[in-house]
Amino acid sequence: MHAYGTGVWPAIARIDMETQMLGLMQRRNLLISSVITHAARHHGATEIVSRRDDGRLDRTTYAALERRARRLTVVLRALGIRPGDRVGTLAMNSDRHLELYYAIPGIGAVCNTINPRLAPEDIAYIAGHAEDRIIFVDPGFLPIVAAIAPALREMLRAVVVLAPPDAMAATALPEGIALLCYETLMAGTAEEPDWPDFDENTAAGLCYTSGTTGRPKGVLYSHRSEVLHAMVENFADVFALRATDRMLPAVPMFHANAWGIPYSAPMAGTALILPGRQLDPASLLTLLNEERATASAGVPTVWLGVLNHLRAVGGGFQTLGRILSGGAAFPRALMADYAALGVHVHHAWGMTESSPLATWNAAKPATLAMDAQARLDQQATQGRTVFGCDVAALNDAGEEVPWDGKTQGNLMFRGHWVASAYFRQPETSVGDQGWFPTGDVGVLDPEGFVVLTDRTKDLIKSGGEWISSIALENIAIGHPGVAEAAAIAIPDPKWSERPLLIVVPREGCTVTPEEIRAFYQGKVPSWSMPDRVVIAESLPHGATGKILKTELRRIYAG
Ligand code: ADP
Repeated sequence: MHAYGTGVWPAIARIDMETQMLGLMQRRNLLISSVITHAARHHGATEIVSRRDDGRLDRTTYAALERRARRLTVVLRALGIRPGDRVGTLAMNSDRHLELYYAIPGIGAVCNTINPRLAPEDIAYIAGHAEDRIIFVDPGFLPIVAAIAPALREMLRAVVVLAPPDAMAATALPEGIALLCYETLMAGTAEEPDWPDFDENTAAGLCYTSGTTGRPKGVLYSHRSEVLHAMVENFADVFALRATDRMLPAVPMFHANAWGIPYSAPMAGTALILPGRQLDPASLLTLLNEERATASAGVPTVWLGVLNHLRAVGGGFQTLGRILSGGAAFPRALMADYAALGVHVHHAWGMTESSPLATWNAAKPATLAMDAQARLDQQATQGRTVFGCDVAALNDAGEEVPWDGKTQGNLMFRGHWVASAYFRQPETSVGDQGWFPTGDVGVLDPEGFVVLTDRTKDLIKSGGEWISSIALENIAIGHPGVAEAAAIAIPDPKWSERPLLIVVPREGCTVTPEEIRAFYQGKVPSWSMPDRVVIAESLPHGATGKILKTELRRIYAG
């Protein structure tokens, strides 16, 4: 029986009605447009810097961007976009992409950000599954869209190139799909209508998981979920962006909405530095320093690259104080290297399915009493659960395992910005209250810090014991001669699986398999030491910068 089944609930309802008559709080929809109107009104002069393909930096402001976004809503409507329609983007981080981030959901349509680094068949699958009616594309990605356009004939009506007219290249598209120029369309209207009001539970964004776990699956965000997620991202114990910050998101706007930064930064009045497609370590470092970035965000591979570059050329960070890293485990040794350069690494964990923020690493009272090594150990964990999302580790019977830092469980989450099902896959529904299975395995410690052991499919099962590939990789990265490492399971007749470690040496270093194996002595139990170590020139990375274990297993498992 419901706790409010009798008596109590009617009383509360009565009070509620009386309060309303006296003047309850205003009820306003949590709409994405409210973020940019706030930024325009209260941080109107704050900069948005965009690096173009030719390296040039263009500058605009929140005030100007908001006006252009409103003009873009006219363009979208003129192209036939109605509430609920999906509109695709295939673009890097730029002011134009940011305009789309506001204009598309701003009229109740759905912004379907697509990862241009995926295989063309995956891109075609996503745009087809989403039924995108228009695709906005950076000039450099136009050939991809042209190649898949015949497969999208049924729904796709136009391809709009995010460029001025002089950057338009002649491209053949199937009949019925128009090739249009973004700046020409924008110049063709002077109208800047107000943002419409509608229900905050309207769909706003659609992002497909990167496909490291099979066919891409769609995650449909709402206005309410995006706004709440961005607000919490700005909590003091989360990313806490400020109006005096200058934020450079190196995480692309097609990867889980650049982790919410396109919404959390304007909300705080933080300047944005958008790096375009030049994400190589040298270009990133130059942009961070020359544009005086105080904060940045990217997957560990990005930060590993920047550090290796700094080691090779010397120098350091002039203004950068903190970075957000997620998407894969950030090695402890790399964290120490960044601390030595004056940069605090915030480790976060989440998935496209959780918008993506689920946990964030920030100190608790007990942390303050720890010595430097213990603090670093804690800083390297995936962090603790943020308000608005809840995390649990469940055993196979569906019961929560104790928070003892030892007992492993299947990590689950639920909350205001966690998917209830995959887009158009009702069979995956967990409903509004259910736990969403992450496919990750981990433990919670007594303070609630999550330590992610592995993705379920990456765990190495040896003789009935589980070996964490992340733990093995973190140790290897701590070796002074190692730049990058990956551990995978290889079949073994006796133990069923055994760990194989693939190591990429640092530039100018040579390492031997024996030396690496010896480095594990005393750091892990003997049965979880890698049996074999392979020295490789590089590791394969997927579309979001993660190491492609599927590919490694294909190469090495035999
Ligand atoms: P995909 O699931 O398609 O790879 P996501 O970007 O949503 O795309 O990836 C989510 C996954 O990335 C998580 O389930 C987890 O395995 C991994 N991950 C994310 N953050 C971390 C982290 N801080 N440490 C370790 N793994 C992480």
